[in-house]
Amino acid sequence: MRVGFGFDAHHLVRGRKLWLGGLMIDFEMGLQGHSDGDVVLHALADAVLGATASGDIGTYFRDDDSSILGIDSSKILKFALLKAKEKGFSLVNVDLVILADKPKLAPIYEKLRDSISRLCMINKDQVSVKAKTTEGTNITGSAIACYASVLMDKN
Ligand code: MG
Repeated sequence: MRVGFGFDAHHLVRGRKLWLGGLMIDFEMGLQGHSDGDVVLHALADAVLGATASGDIGTYFRDDDSSILGIDSSKILKFALLKAKEKGFSLVNVDLVILADKPKLAPIYEKLRDSISRLCMINKDQVSVKAKTTEGTNITGSAIACYASVLMDKN
């Protein structure tokens, strides 16, 4: 058994689509980034890489590489899962905490769990999604952040 942990944060800006957990979410702002800005999939991919001590997503997907500008972050997650698979590991479960003052994510928990479980090719009951507002503490400012932990086991 191996545990992995990941984190990511991106600024919310106007003129971008909001992608979270592989879903496009209806909101007036989106996350800045060299990729589609999906903080959930970035944190999750880093947790998967971390579980098998395979580096981080910046090792493989450089933000100065113009060939991956706007990359679909599900490709980053798939890459991380493939790296783990090569070392003989697959996911046992995923637990995510998304920090977002807006938009409210509780109404789409089930959609997020569906999307993430599909991308990870695991069952929905292996995926937990929680969202926290920061209660006016301004921890995230005008950003969305995500913590991800995973457990992986030998196939
Ligand atoms: Mg990122």
